[in-house]
Amino acid sequence: MVDLAALIADIAVAMAAQEERGQVASYIPELAKIDPAHFGIAIATADGRLLAGGDADTAFSIQSISKVFALTLALGKVGDQLWDRVGREPSGNAFNSIVQLEQEHGIPRNPFINAGAIVVSDVNLGGHQPRVAIGEMLRFVRYLTGDDSIAINEDVAASETGTGFRNMALANYMRAFGNLRHPVDLVLGTYFHQCAIEMSCRQLALAGRYLMLDGRHPDGGRVVSPGRARRINALMLTCGHYDASGDFAFRVGIPGKSGVGGGILAIVPGRASIAVWSPGLNDNGNSQLGTQALELLARRTGWSVFSPPEEGD
Ligand code: GLN
Repeated sequence: MVDLAALIADIAVAMAAQEERGQVASYIPELAKIDPAHFGIAIATADGRLLAGGDADTAFSIQSISKVFALTLALGKVGDQLWDRVGREPSGNAFNSIVQLEQEHGIPRNPFINAGAIVVSDVNLGGHQPRVAIGEMLRFVRYLTGDDSIAINEDVAASETGTGFRNMALANYMRAFGNLRHPVDLVLGTYFHQCAIEMSCRQLALAGRYLMLDGRHPDGGRVVSPGRARRINALMLTCGHYDASGDFAFRVGIPGKSGVGGGILAIVPGRASIAVWSPGLNDNGNSQLGTQALELLARRTGWSVFSPPEEGD
């Protein structure tokens, strides 16, 4: 069996030495201020351990990783009816692309591209004010982690509200097709605030545990049914890295969801919930070093959804 603590330490050292660290997201001005030198990693294991390395306690903007938690909440509210309004296919396009929406009548390809997540926010609003939906989301991630200190960075939310012209275009376009039920500013207020939640790698790895545990909360009770956990993992594998989802599946081989803050949440069903963070992004808007670290981790542990568990693993 691999010594995970030693492996994490190795990975943190290897990543600190990397010179090619990608570019920090600059289209959200607040995110452009983050130092690309950061690298953090945390692994929550199915047997209850939490191992961490690098900047695992530094909070960062989870951005699109919030789409996993928002989807979980929306499925809880409307169940499979969600799929009348959002697809389940990889888009093959950038996270903020508008091109498919016209041909596909305002139905986004999946809940993990921006257009799909904006529809999910519309569902989560459910006739309330954004602060109600945002409060519910915060309570949910605090429940998943057991940590009430998790909060929203209002400066990041304001920064994105001031510059989120593409998301405004996506939302208005879908509203024209009748696929948003609430006013666009309320839907985007909800969406921008969920993206601005901050968590450390340690907190994010804890938040993902229900997806490695077939939907169970490690402290008892159920977050979602086993079937729903499996399906969320399937969507993370097929759609979690936008137009690089195929490459991530090829290189890493486990479900993962990235965000432009440089974080990635990755799930090894039955074994581990992993969070990595490094703010520099590759051309597809996914963390450059985060992806490399997960590739290294998967290779050294043998973790993959495409191979059987090893003896003693
Ligand atoms: N808040 C970001 C946006 O809407 C999230 C995108 C991402 O993390 N890929 O542009």
